[in-house]
Amino acid sequence: ELYNQVQDLKGNIRVFCRVRPFHPDQIGNRSTIDYIGEDGSIVIANPLKVGKDQRKSFTFNRVFNPSAAQEEVFLDTQPLIRSVLDGFNVCIFAYGQTGSGKTHTMTGPNNPSPSDWGVNLRALNDLFHISQSRKDHMTYGIGVQMIEIYNEQVKDLLSTDGSNKRLEIRNNSQQNGLNVPDASMMSVNCTQDVLDLMSLGHKNRAVGSTALNERSSRSHSVLTVHVKGIDQVSGAILRGCLHLVDLAGSERVDKSEATGDRLKEAQHINKSLSALGDVIAALAQKNSHVPYRNSKLTQLLQGSLGGQAKTLMFVHISPDEESYSETLSTLKFAERVA
Ligand code: ADP
Ligand code: MG
Repeated sequence: ELYNQVQDLKGNIRVFCRVRPFHPDQIGNRSTIDYIGEDGSIVIANPLKVGKDQRKSFTFNRVFNPSAAQEEVFLDTQPLIRSVLDGFNVCIFAYGQTGSGKTHTMTGPNNPSPSDWGVNLRALNDLFHISQSRKDHMTYGIGVQMIEIYNEQVKDLLSTDGSNKRLEIRNNSQQNGLNVPDASMMSVNCTQDVLDLMSLGHKNRAVGSTALNERSSRSHSVLTVHVKGIDQVSGAILRGCLHLVDLAGSERVDKSEATGDRLKEAQHINKSLSALGDVIAALAQKNSHVPYRNSKLTQLLQGSLGGQAKTLMFVHISPDEESYSETLSTLKFAERVA
């Protein structure tokens, strides 16, 4: 298909940068974003410097400006989603400091109206529609798992029995393609099924943590969509897998201030985000050694990162001056994997 030809030309790793708008109470503040080009370029300005060192320029596959709507962001993502029905594995990541818009991109607000839907609902909605449109020759089954990785421990977010057991990652279960065979697998047929599961996942995530936002900024959540298609004529079976990953906040924690649990969390996050960066950078550079073993996240996604699989990294930045140093380090991370 045309899409796959285009992908071959561009490679299997793409990076989109999304700049969030100011919060309502920040409107009128100075922005660190100097320029956003149609060609994927972005220039940021250091508020503490003047002269030739003040500006830094980066280029990605696309940059979405603060006014980009959810629908516009999804349009460029849609072809990847569709390739899952043709048997490809796809990973979509949301990276950025806490508050930069990762969950907004992936999920949208709580109880979203369809125009607010993030990538995950739009993706599933698309999969449902396309599988329906092919129903005269293909039979598709769609199932989802939702897990959280917190302090390098994997937890099922869709368990209904309140069990909180640690799950194992396996990379040898090629027959059914399940990397976390013990995580609940729920079959879904329509958007309402997905909304119900997401609210269950949301509830399970909050258990045991004082504030959901705190917890969600310190753990990775992974929504995995498994698609199985059977060709009614040949009987051939196609399997594709889509991982939608809302990463832990990338902000650096001041080591002189963090202690105890907070320090441990920060070290786990730091380690797993670097491991992810190392894996994608190795793939982008076509290195022969790809260091998948260094984190639970990269172990989990091993079969969907590299090879024929397609990767999309959304990096999120905030335009406010206080965020400048995090914005710079986010863009440097993104540049390394692009
Ligand atoms: P993160 O998940 O990275 O911590 P959130 O997605 O929760 O950040 O965003 C923080 C706040 O900013 C939320 O209230 C969210 O609705 C809002 N927000 C983020 N990005 C956008 C955007 N592009 N447009 C409108 N509001 C946004
Ligand atoms: Mg979030």
